[in-house]
Amino acid sequence: MEKYDVVIIGAGPGGFTAAYALNKGNKRVAIVEEDLWGGTCPNRGCDPKKIFVSGMEAVERINQLAGKGFIPVNSIRWPELAAFKRTFTDSFSGSFRKKLQNRGIETIEGTAKFLNSKQIQAGKQVIEADAFIIATGQRPGIPDIEGKEFLKTSTDFLDLENLPARITFLGAGYISFELASIANAAGSKVTIIHHNDRPLKGFDGDLVSDMVEAFKEKGIRFVFNTDIRKVSRRGGQLLLTGSEYSETTDYIVCATGRIPNIEKLGLENAGVESGRRGILVNGYLQTSNPAIFACGDVVDKKQPKLTPVATFEGNYAAGKILDASLAGISYPPVVSIVYGSPKLAGVGITVSEAKSAPEKYEIRDIDMTGWFNYRRMNEPVSRARLVYENGQLRGACILNNEADDLVNYLAILIEKGITREEMGHMILGSPTIAADLRHLL
Ligand SMILES: Cc1cc2nc3c(=O)[nH]c(=O)nc-3n(C[C@H](O)[C@H](O)[C@H](O)COP(=O)(O)OP(=O)(O)OC[C@H]3O[C@@H](n4cnc5c(N)ncnc54)[C@H](O)[C@@H]3O)c2cc1C
Repeated sequence: MEKYDVVIIGAGPGGFTAAYALNKGNKRVAIVEEDLWGGTCPNRGCDPKKIFVSGMEAVERINQLAGKGFIPVNSIRWPELAAFKRTFTDSFSGSFRKKLQNRGIETIEGTAKFLNSKQIQAGKQVIEADAFIIATGQRPGIPDIEGKEFLKTSTDFLDLENLPARITFLGAGYISFELASIANAAGSKVTIIHHNDRPLKGFDGDLVSDMVEAFKEKGIRFVFNTDIRKVSRRGGQLLLTGSEYSETTDYIVCATGRIPNIEKLGLENAGVESGRRGILVNGYLQTSNPAIFACGDVVDKKQPKLTPVATFEGNYAAGKILDASLAGISYPPVVSIVYGSPKLAGVGITVSEAKSAPEKYEIRDIDMTGWFNYRRMNEPVSRARLVYENGQLRGACILNNEADDLVNYLAILIEKGITREEMGHMILGSPTIAADLRHLL
């Protein structure tokens, strides 16, 4: 039986980051993957989505300048954009596996299952290790309703060869908002159905309302407070039925939540505890079995389940295995972005958190629509909600088309505690979004 210092289960961003770090620390490492090497992000998540977002941005940028030298664009040639996306995704998994192997990391194909706390069944072989890292991520959840076989997922959407004329998204989280924006810019008639009236619940409610209005302006339809109970086929169409609601559509993307990949792991054989939201860990990312760590989306945690969080945790878990005296994990402010049109992005203390401690925090609401950098691009909406503590920026939520870059700059200012005076000593290229930062401090 092969024996390793560390075996990692799942070759997504959390797992492969840990593998690289442990390999660099001279550990004998094996990584087990049952599907695509690289995991969700590069194969069926962030990266393919961002390629479609690039198409959306091009269309929206032109349409914003309609009547100002540009003729509006109605659609995208989807098959061409999809083919462009495949030039990134088709060969990724194979070439990424080779990259791991070239570093001297053993790559094992198959589903991993704990036989006991020291051994796992990995595909056809049984292997042993002193320590394990579980990084098995999440998958789309499909509700158990009549006709659930007609529901598609974000993975199916990102693999579409042709864009359906009408698309309905179930759930109003970030994945629905992003894919709905893409489909809308590409010419599809889009509806988002949500079980309550508070979409994107992790983000500032006022800016979410503005975002919903901006989406409606672009023709995206919202149906709130509606639970879909049944889906059936009617000729070439699909019929969605809820209590007091029904509609016909061509394609349904279910994005009502993602579920942790834990069922096949045999966790009970290794004394690892888990719940509905994932594997339970302590402040060192150790599970209830201290020799077994977990990182990334599979962990039950309050941080957003995003790639940079998974890689941060992968590095930490590896660091803790290499140096048992390492202090507990401490997260910097985490940036979350909704790549819609417009984009919504947040970092640090939220306005609702600040409102619960008014003696501590000051809140500023800034309408940036009239600022030169937004007027030159004719942006319909640009707004920031900022939180300060003793005059120091502690949190931000931004709604505009540049929010993805702007929020990262703000995260650096928050993390480094940079003040308005210190910004005054910097000479940045202007007129740019970054040069406006001093007005937000
Ligand atoms: C549509 C979409 C868009 C997204 N966009 C963004 C974005 O813009 N920015 C961002 O930061 N994040 C985004 N995310 C989230 C991001 O993809 C995840 O946070 C990230 O991939 C998590 O990494 P991970 O390593 O924890 O898990 P994953 O990347 O999911 O990798 C887990 C791996 O484990 C494997 N596995 C599971 N069970 C087993 C087993 N028993 N044995 C062996 N292998 C197993 C799986 O096959 C998978 O390859 C997006 C996700 C989706 C679905």
